[in-house]
Amino acid sequence: MPVLFLGHGSPMNAIEENVFVKGFRDVGKRLQKPKAILCISAHWETYGTKVTAMEMPKTIHDFGGFPPALYEVQYPAPGCPDLARMTKELLQDCELDQHWGLDHGAWSVIKHMYPDADVPVVQMSLNRYKTPAEHIALAKELEALRKRGVLIVGSGNMVHNLRMVAWDRLNDSFGFDWAQEANARMKAMIVSNDLEGLANYSKGGKAFQNAIPTPEHYLPMLYSTALRGEDENISFFNDSYLAGALSMTSILIGG
Ligand code: ZN
Repeated sequence: MPVLFLGHGSPMNAIEENVFVKGFRDVGKRLQKPKAILCISAHWETYGTKVTAMEMPKTIHDFGGFPPALYEVQYPAPGCPDLARMTKELLQDCELDQHWGLDHGAWSVIKHMYPDADVPVVQMSLNRYKTPAEHIALAKELEALRKRGVLIVGSGNMVHNLRMVAWDRLNDSFGFDWAQEANARMKAMIVSNDLEGLANYSKGGKAFQNAIPTPEHYLPMLYSTALRGEDENISFFNDSYLAGALSMTSILIGG
């Protein structure tokens, strides 16, 4: 199976129609239907690595201040306890979780790819104890899942600074200079498979400091990028900016 990184942006993408949503839908149609999805979302950080292992994960509305319609969205994709166990076996250090469910990093984008909620979804958390290089090493251990029909999806945003959002530029693909610089440099490292450079983002100067004030939206991209095989194709889509301080850049690896 290919691997995806999806820039999820605003939770409102779950119920809006826009160019990003179209990008999610189109990539869903292009891919062979997976047996299951393993999603690494920016919105589930834990101490230790966890995978959701319940039969029916609940839809979590993990945001505040949005219209009621967004809280009414349910995405009833089943879980996949078998995939959770398989993942736990691959990673030495991983716990099965019965409490989480699907957070909006997962459901707000996956619902556009698979609107019938007929592909089981398992989430894997971001372990707060790990360094970026350790996240990359962990991601590589997931490789065997690709051969078993599992679509691995990282969901975050490569450039994500909510404190610097230009609220008056929500609808015109505007990106601040630092956002464009950081995004372009990240893309160049992704294309050249410079995982070391991507892991050392904190040494990337002012543009990277602004783009990655906290790591949780950046790390899911490392998971996806780390799973790229030698000579495997890579392409970008939804490659534009939102409100100055976010990039929606998404990645298809293989496929
Ligand atoms: Zn987010």
